Amino acid sequence: MPENPLNSSLQFIPKVGPKRAEAFAKVGLRSIRDLLFYFPFKHLDRTKIVSSSQAYQHLLNGYDGEITVIGKVYDTSVKNFKGRGILTVVFNDPGGFFDCVWFQGIKFFQDRFKAGQTYAISAKPSISKYGQLQFIHPDFDYLTNEESTGFYNTGKIIPFYKIPGELKLKNIGDLSLRKMIDFAISKYSGYIEETIPVYLLEKYNLPALKESIRSLHFPDSQEELNRSWQRLKYEELLYLEILVALRKEKNNSVIKTRSLKVKTSLVADFLKTLPFELTQSQLNALKEIRQDLALERPMNRLLQGDVGSGKTIVAVIAMLIAADNGYQSVLMAPTEILADQHAKNISGYLSRLAEKFPQHQLKLTLLLGGRSKSVKEKTREKNELKEANIIIGTHALFEENVEFENVGLVVIDEQHRFGVAQRGKLLSKGANPDVLIMSATPIPRTLSMTVYGDLDTSVISEMPKDRLPVKTYLRGESSLPKIYQFVKDKLQEGYQSFIVYPLVEESEKVELKAAETYYSELSEGYLKDLNVGLIHGKMKWQQKEEIMLLFAAKKYDVLISTTVIEVGIDIPDANIIIINDAHQFGLAQLHQLRGRVGRGKVQAHCILVTKDELAASVTRFSRNTEYMTSAQLEKFKTAVRLNTMVTNNDGFKVAEVDLKLRGPGDIFGIKQSGYPELKYADITVDEELISSAREDAFSIIRKDIHLRTPENSVLRKNLLTHFSDVLRFSTVG
Ligand code: ADP
Ligand code: MG
Repeated sequence: MPENPLNSSLQFIPKVGPKRAEAFAKVGLRSIRDLLFYFPFKHLDRTKIVSSSQAYQHLLNGYDGEITVIGKVYDTSVKNFKGRGILTVVFNDPGGFFDCVWFQGIKFFQDRFKAGQTYAISAKPSISKYGQLQFIHPDFDYLTNEESTGFYNTGKIIPFYKIPGELKLKNIGDLSLRKMIDFAISKYSGYIEETIPVYLLEKYNLPALKESIRSLHFPDSQEELNRSWQRLKYEELLYLEILVALRKEKNNSVIKTRSLKVKTSLVADFLKTLPFELTQSQLNALKEIRQDLALERPMNRLLQGDVGSGKTIVAVIAMLIAADNGYQSVLMAPTEILADQHAKNISGYLSRLAEKFPQHQLKLTLLLGGRSKSVKEKTREKNELKEANIIIGTHALFEENVEFENVGLVVIDEQHRFGVAQRGKLLSKGANPDVLIMSATPIPRTLSMTVYGDLDTSVISEMPKDRLPVKTYLRGESSLPKIYQFVKDKLQEGYQSFIVYPLVEESEKVELKAAETYYSELSEGYLKDLNVGLIHGKMKWQQKEEIMLLFAAKKYDVLISTTVIEVGIDIPDANIIIINDAHQFGLAQLHQLRGRVGRGKVQAHCILVTKDELAASVTRFSRNTEYMTSAQLEKFKTAVRLNTMVTNNDGFKVAEVDLKLRGPGDIFGIKQSGYPELKYADITVDEELISSAREDAFSIIRKDIHLRTPENSVLRKNLLTHFSDVLRFSTVG
């Protein structure tokens, strides 16, 4: 087969040659195909270039859109307005003078504009109070002399590329790159093969790939450009969702040798012994889980719910159903202390059950590592393991070589999405156990359609009755004395308090010192009449456990914690949490911490303490982030995080904001999920596209699991070429 011309070297493009081709190769552009897919990061619409006097007229005539003018920098000045700087850059063009104004990033923009330079300025113009035409925070592009005249610039929508240093060194700029790409498109775009089935292109009226590539570089209209981006994003999401659908199909194709159904009165009797009634959401989740357990294929279900919504009890009932059928269940917790807490709680439930209904004698065993065991102990453990109905341990332990004989259900209480490989390991242990994953924090919809998309999902969307939302406050450090007084006052009503400090550094010595300093300062200072406990990350888990138990038993009024108090810890009478240096915590982490209180019937309080100036300014930040410097952006994000906590109790909303703030590059779990990373689509904004791609992909796989029909052959071909490693988990191939 002749080599596809798209794979040939960039050398064959006029003005490239071996030297420049080498420079291109250094930034990853080797073939003509690479160049065609090197898309501009933005465009400038020069179809609408007018002179400044025409722009003024348009405005007077009521025109209300974006306008581009080209002018030379005349002068720059910074004025002070209510304590803040305002930068004005005066430009002139044949039509006269006009102003560009910046309120943010002043230093950055001031250094940017030098008298005599030519810029294209685009924005929605307005008229200043001095009657001058002005552009506020406009888009702008520096134009070289050559550029302001050449063919590739005037009267079109012009692409702008990221030009890495390696290319600049070889004198390649926007203009020369435009010419090279224009040549590549006219000579080679005929060789581009379509990657989306025609029926889907038609369904959404999307342009063919060939068309899109041209438009992404040199669009005839903004609309054409938008549709081409949509196409690229959709394509990427479609392939991702097909992989998700195939993984799910693969899970579903496994046959398990059991069908777990409620057999005896065990579950009903258990419910009678609970001190509360399950919420409707808990019942719904339970119903979905019961249906899965009864099926012939293993359950793969994600149980979502906000912190404190009561996921554990749902999992416990699922484990009872397994026991009812003579199968063991395993509960994996993320840390020893949580495993231990689960064991204590669940043992409590089981002994209450056995007291009231002596016919239901269930056994639980806790498996924890960390110390060497005698032969006798090991034998005892082995026997307990054999006889247990419920086995509890940590993730780590189950990765070691513990053998399970009769496990029907595995419950994973997880902090994060754990990897495919880990899951594979787990599944290799039992005879295809049913798997229930409890997520520690709510997962935004876009993530549950992608990274978690192969799992069925149950959502506990309501909190237990009588639960009051935690009141959250933001306070400056100077309020600390008042806050400590509040802690003391509330102690009279039986409130216990957590006081949390961020981890200063990842160094043992520093952490220990910080912990001890906080502790001695407080216990000898403001809180000297109170019983104060200390817990920190460098303690052994048994030691932490002991302190937690003392706190739960009210031996301490206040617990100081340097690192994060363990996710999931449940101390019913701790109803105040003070989080110091709250600006140093992530949003999900803050929400988890807040979830440590408000677990009983009384009003709980969460006090976020931060720098005084930050506490005072948080609600006054502007929302225009586009031209912020990175320092400003960080400050802005911090403000949004703190504000979100104060104004929101709903974990799903908090998770959405968190996702948006972090951005797609920093989402925990995408890499671990084993799916390809997204280049074009953005999981934080493209919810609608994800949803369409998902529906299409699942419907395709449902009808044509091996992708053998002619109309889907293009999908099959591309999957096998590009995603063969991911496909190990599927039935195509
Ligand atoms: P999470 O979903 O954060 O894991 P837990 O399972 O730890 O939450 O439950 C939080 C607390 O709420 C526990 O003390 C639990 O006993 C209690 N709880 C669970 N379900 C209910 C309910 N329906 N009514 C009242 N309290 C409940
Ligand atoms: Mg929990």
